Amino acid sequence: MGTNEHYFTRAKLSIPGGVNSPVRAYGSVGGTPRFLVSARGAYVTDAEGREYVDLVSSWGPAILGHAYPSVVKAVQDAAAKGLSFGASTPGETELAELVRERVRVGDQCAVEKLRLVSTGTEATMTAIRLARGATGRDLLVKFAGHYHGHSDALLAEAGSGLATLAMPGSAGVTAATAAQTLVIPYNDLAAVRAVFAEHGPNIAAVIVEAAAANMGVVAPERGFNRALAAIARENGALTIFDEVLTGFRVGPAGWWGLEAARVVPDGAGWQPDLFTFGKVIGGGMPLAALGGRADIMDRLAPLGPVYQAGTLSGNPVAVAAGIATLRAADAAVYAKLDAVADRLSAAVSAALAAQGVEHTVQRAGNLFSFAFAATAPRNYADVKAQQAFRYAPFFHAMLDAGVSLPPSVFEAWFVSAAHDDAAVSRILDALPAAARAAAA
Ligand code: PLP
Repeated sequence: MGTNEHYFTRAKLSIPGGVNSPVRAYGSVGGTPRFLVSARGAYVTDAEGREYVDLVSSWGPAILGHAYPSVVKAVQDAAAKGLSFGASTPGETELAELVRERVRVGDQCAVEKLRLVSTGTEATMTAIRLARGATGRDLLVKFAGHYHGHSDALLAEAGSGLATLAMPGSAGVTAATAAQTLVIPYNDLAAVRAVFAEHGPNIAAVIVEAAAANMGVVAPERGFNRALAAIARENGALTIFDEVLTGFRVGPAGWWGLEAARVVPDGAGWQPDLFTFGKVIGGGMPLAALGGRADIMDRLAPLGPVYQAGTLSGNPVAVAAGIATLRAADAAVYAKLDAVADRLSAAVSAALAAQGVEHTVQRAGNLFSFAFAATAPRNYADVKAQQAFRYAPFFHAMLDAGVSLPPSVFEAWFVSAAHDDAAVSRILDALPAAARAAAA
């Protein structure tokens, strides 16, 4: 096997930037990206044979830990029966039924129908087309710092890789497309009211991350999501609740489930019109979905006039991984994720405090990150104002000690149920030196 350096140099000759998704290039933290060759439980192994405790978890899907036995077996069994049929399979319905059963609180079923696609980007892109088709309106409202994938309409002031690269949007998006996306500050109901006051009759939908986690974690303020949906409804617009990242990770019914069940206060009694899911729903395979009100979902082809399709949509191997993951993700798994998140976020905070590093702990369920700021950021402008330069030395000190963090301060940390005491101890042991590096 070669070194990470060797693989990176070689990759750059045949792949733009050497990566197939920008944040993987370590652009904001510097250094050589680790080329991974295997992963098991809470650990990943690089091309040099070095093992790291993983807090990226494939950017979310790996809630059970990597290569979870029942998921791997389901994938192997499905693959042995054929990789792709381009026809309907019983598994697709089983997965849709599982989601319907989960994304409900009491009698309130929030996902009446579900359409499977392959990526979160496709899910949000289709949800927008559907909202436009259903309302006959053109405009879309999104929040600065929220990332919904890389379709043209959604790249304005998005978080995640664009935040990491300090890009306001993307070249190649036409001015006409950009003009149809109205970007407003997060957690600001006055801004929501103002945009609807000015453009209300032309707004098809507002799209919002259920809890923002692509500019670091920034939780919605109390009652924000419910009020947002109410304002949209009063104006005849739809609410698209993007749970690609939070769905089936922060709880069995995602972030909406936490609000509906009053785990998060002041959320009960409201329901988005459409949801988007990704990541966990595919258990690490390329699978995502959009779902919600049947009367809206039934406007998709072949029943309705809004077109959407995919050669690999509902791929049987990916569906098998999704079913096995959701079946294994029981209450004990969610309790474990919460406990590990509690322990790690407190320990990181204590280590930073011990070195006098100003920071806030950003939490949304079991998702967390840290902002190098005196007060907790509540929107993208706040997030960008932090002392982001402190993250790179922190990141590299952790990496040197065998802990793989997201290579950007604008990303959430992802724990799994496989993060046992041994894995957590390795992270805790690495913290003092990393906090010293951040303080320097
Ligand atoms: N929506 C949210 C909230 C996300 O976090 C992401 C990806 O990180 C996406 C959409 C896009 O998903 P994908 O990367 O599968 O296209």
